[in-house]
Amino acid sequence: MRGAPVCTEDCGSIRLPQPLRLAGALFKTAIVFEPIARASSGRLPMSPRSPRHLLAKTLTAAAAAYQAENIISHCPQCAKPCCRLDQLVLELDWKELKAIWQLKETRKEFDQRLAAGKGPKEIRAGNGLYYGHQKACPAFDEAHGSCKVYDQDIKPPGCSDFPVYENDGDLIADLRCEAVDLEVLTDWITRALGPGYRIVQSADEQFPFIVTLLVTRIAAAETSSRRNATKARVQRQ
Ligand code: SF4
Ligand code: SF4
Repeated sequence: MRGAPVCTEDCGSIRLPQPLRLAGALFKTAIVFEPIARASSGRLPMSPRSPRHLLAKTLTAAAAAYQAENIISHCPQCAKPCCRLDQLVLELDWKELKAIWQLKETRKEFDQRLAAGKGPKEIRAGNGLYYGHQKACPAFDEAHGSCKVYDQDIKPPGCSDFPVYENDGDLIADLRCEAVDLEVLTDWITRALGPGYRIVQSADEQFPFIVTLLVTRIAAAETSSRRNATKARVQRQ
């Protein structure tokens, strides 16, 4: 979310995002508060004008609009704010960590302190990044249920995407956010895409609260289906 209290971000899947696996190893519990969109999907890069790129842009805008309309307004009264980081893991780069945790030392000094076991217990380092978990984010204003660095550059990207974000031409919804309503979200995306698309929900096997809304062009799906039917007929002959 981005409005008042923020909490936005994400996790992984079969295309298990690197951060998700890493966080699992680091914390043995929750998944990363970071969009899988950052992770490599193994697909080729999209051309800026390709249909897939345009679809991704539409989904990104629709996800942001859905959050603005349906999530952000709920944050101040949320029963389990994601910014407490009890369920989620917040991924940060050094600049974000330094600003939000108000660290005064250099990165090298902080890393040495962390390695010596004298750093903040809620922070782990890995893969050139830092992960906060099991203690509320210092930028979280518990009294108002809001983010103190909302609209600032230092707010980690994951915070802006959670709990709904585009990933490789599909949409991911994180049901750990109590404000997400899959039915409303699916209707929202259907309207945003217009006719010609089919949306199918698919929960992650390992993390069932991560649901992918798989987006398919109906024409393409029907063509593929006709091809398969033709193949089946040929095989039977
Ligand atoms: S879990 Fe959802 S509703 Fe609750 S604070 Fe986070 S984004 Fe807002
Ligand atoms: S920076 Fe902290 S308080 Fe702000 S949205 Fe992210 S996790 Fe929540």
